Amino acid sequence: MRWIYSFGAGRADRGRNDRDLLGSKGAQLAEMTRLGLNVPPGFTITTQACRAYLFAGELPPDLEEELDAAIELLEQTTGRLFQDTESEPLLVSVRSGAAISMPGMMDTILNLGSNDATIRALGTASDNPRFAWDCYRRFVQMHGEVVYGVDHAWFEDALAECRQARSVATDSSLPCEDLESLVAEFKAKIEQVVGHSFPADQKTQLKEAVAAVFRSWGNPRAREYRRVNGIPEDLGTGVNVQAMVYGNRGPGSGSGVAFTRDPATGAPRLYGEFLEDAQGEDVVAGIRDPISLDAFAARFPGLARDLAEVRTTLEHHYRDMQDLEFTVDRGEMFVLQTRTGKRTGLAAVRIATDMVDEGLIDRDAALLRVDADSLEQILHPMVDPEAEVRELGKGLPASPGAAVGRVVFTSDEARRRAADGEKVVLVRTETSADDFPGMVAAEGILTSRGGMTSHAAVVARGMGKCCVAGASTLRIDEHAGTVVAGDTMVHEGDWLTLDGTRGRVLLGRVRTVEPRPGEEFDRLLGWADQTRRLRVRTNADTPEDAVRARQLGAEGIGLCRTEHMFFAEDRLQTVREMILAPDREARRSALDRLLPMQRGDFEGIFRAMDGLPVTIRLLDPPLHEFLPGSEEEIEEFATRTGRKTAEVRSAVECHREDNPMLGHRGVRLAITVPELAEMQVRAIIGAALAVSDEGVRVEPEIMIPVVMTERELVSQREIIVRVAEEMFEEHGRRIEFRIGTMVELPRAALTAAKLAPHADFFSFGTNDLTQTTLGLSRDDAGTFLPLYLEKGYLPADPFRSLDAEGVGTLVRLAVREGRAVREELGLGVCGEHGGDPRSIEFFHDAGLDYVSCSTFRVPVARLAAAQVALRRGPPKPRERTASPAPPELVGAAR
Ligand code: PEP
Ligand code: MG
Repeated sequence: MRWIYSFGAGRADRGRNDRDLLGSKGAQLAEMTRLGLNVPPGFTITTQACRAYLFAGELPPDLEEELDAAIELLEQTTGRLFQDTESEPLLVSVRSGAAISMPGMMDTILNLGSNDATIRALGTASDNPRFAWDCYRRFVQMHGEVVYGVDHAWFEDALAECRQARSVATDSSLPCEDLESLVAEFKAKIEQVVGHSFPADQKTQLKEAVAAVFRSWGNPRAREYRRVNGIPEDLGTGVNVQAMVYGNRGPGSGSGVAFTRDPATGAPRLYGEFLEDAQGEDVVAGIRDPISLDAFAARFPGLARDLAEVRTTLEHHYRDMQDLEFTVDRGEMFVLQTRTGKRTGLAAVRIATDMVDEGLIDRDAALLRVDADSLEQILHPMVDPEAEVRELGKGLPASPGAAVGRVVFTSDEARRRAADGEKVVLVRTETSADDFPGMVAAEGILTSRGGMTSHAAVVARGMGKCCVAGASTLRIDEHAGTVVAGDTMVHEGDWLTLDGTRGRVLLGRVRTVEPRPGEEFDRLLGWADQTRRLRVRTNADTPEDAVRARQLGAEGIGLCRTEHMFFAEDRLQTVREMILAPDREARRSALDRLLPMQRGDFEGIFRAMDGLPVTIRLLDPPLHEFLPGSEEEIEEFATRTGRKTAEVRSAVECHREDNPMLGHRGVRLAITVPELAEMQVRAIIGAALAVSDEGVRVEPEIMIPVVMTERELVSQREIIVRVAEEMFEEHGRRIEFRIGTMVELPRAALTAAKLAPHADFFSFGTNDLTQTTLGLSRDDAGTFLPLYLEKGYLPADPFRSLDAEGVGTLVRLAVREGRAVREELGLGVCGEHGGDPRSIEFFHDAGLDYVSCSTFRVPVARLAAAQVALRRGPPKPRERTASPAPPELVGAAR
């Protein structure tokens, strides 16, 4: 077993294996070296070594020998010696790098190899002692933090004191003698904390650093990052040891970060920042203001040409947008790192389609390139350009969209309030990896320091969250809990709106508008439509939703929840009268008044979905959800209807249930109150006839919820067919329609063969099917589910991503049994999972015809369906079972 590979030394098995073993940074350093880019030489210690270290609690015994050999080779390549005290010595960086990039989550040490003697040599050789001591100061601090766990804040306080004593704003203005005394002070502190002196020996330093980087795999923020991003715990990190190049050698040197395309919009140009006389994280730390790459090009035209060449080389090689770090050391450009750049959904689509046009990738690759979930961001609201606003300040438009929420100043507070269902905006002077959980919880992020590539900006963009960064006119005081701009002060809990598209910070809650995705969006989704097998419908309850969903590519409605129409203010009263009716007469009168209202809703929906199927579900929720709750409401209802309060109260009481989700709901309502189902069928068929008279092509589908027995379904089918036939008779014309059942109880799935003869289609209600299969309440799981996910009792939230092992088994069973008795049985899903890419993969594999999801998820589902079709290759013909005798239909509804 080998623990170490030099960059570019070549390994036979490239690709995925390479990354698993070397980490993505190590693999890419090796690859860039092979591409001939100017990469400082170095080597990678494998992730396998990390796993061995974490398992045994010590470095593998033979690693030391390999380390010595690797350093020796590095000394030969660079012509510098680790222990050189005469000329410029070899100093190295030690950086983490896992197979899946986890930006900023683990530790880095720079300038390792520094000690009193080598630093003096570096100072003399470079004729710049201040620079040498700057390296030393940074090294002792980083080593102290990473290896010995000395608090970062302690070092920063010491530096701040020094700056104050000199009356200077930045560390780069501190004179050499201050750096020398800081080094002494830092070493003394470390000695006091760890009880031994700071190691001068380079190999000791290196071994300590490697072990510490391995350990940083297990630090809390790295764990949290892995949990949120679904990265396996057991990968381990590689360690990259690389000869230092110095951006901190003064003017003419510096360090920069660049994206090969604009990560916010996808525009095909270099995008990034450069900071002169800076090392490592300085450029993104927000301490001094970096210059844009446009300004960099004006100041250093030759270097800008080098950078443009690097861009071309990297993009032609990786065929994707790259996020790179570079250092300029006395006029020479070095590339230190490259990785696939994080981008907004908007940028992802633009980059994928542009790269097809540029011939870098084909359409299939473009489809696979875009994270389907990220498409939803593009559709998120933006601050209404017409809205009247009061601007509190301006910052950088770091991540587009709008965020409206209450101000919080800490990650913990953001999490606490968000858990209570509040919308919050996280406000920090700058963010660090520790703020990650709060950023996840917040609607948006505002910082007063840092640029477009600051932690806040990069992380927010990755999550598709709105972010305004570097709003430097704001004075953010996290301790006092205030933001001050001029004479305006905002406190914790006040409302704030962020305009991430224009970088504005706005007071109060500002109106937002729907965005308009660009033509690339339609192009990409057009390709997706040509590729996918699954059809995509939407869950929509109003004509407006239906219109929007259709614009977003919905191919019909898979679920119209009729109950939502009953909650409208003007109808609720009539619904209550219907439920609480003292006799049949009163109930019929209320239903007669509801009929035209329902019919009107359905007409609008049918018109919006001209030519496409519309599945309308009969009433589902427990009746008590509609009933007056408080004593005042009961009294008001009694007064309005001229009934006795006590009588109304007792009627309301009759509908109370201990466990309404498993109570009087779904088809059970239609069994106990058949008039209700009749009214709804009349409204559906009446609307369909009326709009089809106008020339609209209607395809109504009537769906029955919460079915558990064949008898239930048969009885409903009888009602539906009878009412429909009556109406056709009255109207003198018939239309085609379908009758189907939801499969949302385990019993329905288990007895699918019994239900299928009476159903033209099954629609899997995976919300209830998950709830009832797992015995896990949709409403109450929130208190313990997070712990279940954290501890791995469940691999993912089963209400977001289908539990393929459990619920999925029922779905597959119902598909198999249903189609066995009725080959043409329609199959769809209308639970939330219909818009979740991972679940869509499952539904594709299970052989469903369509998924139905909320409006904004329609594009997500279109792309996800195309992606799974590409991954699975051309479809196999559906397995045909022996065709049974045609099912006996109750009535001829088809
Ligand atoms: C379901 O249960 O999956 C479903 C779509 O119905 P609802 O969410 O309305 O219960
Ligand atoms: Mg349901």
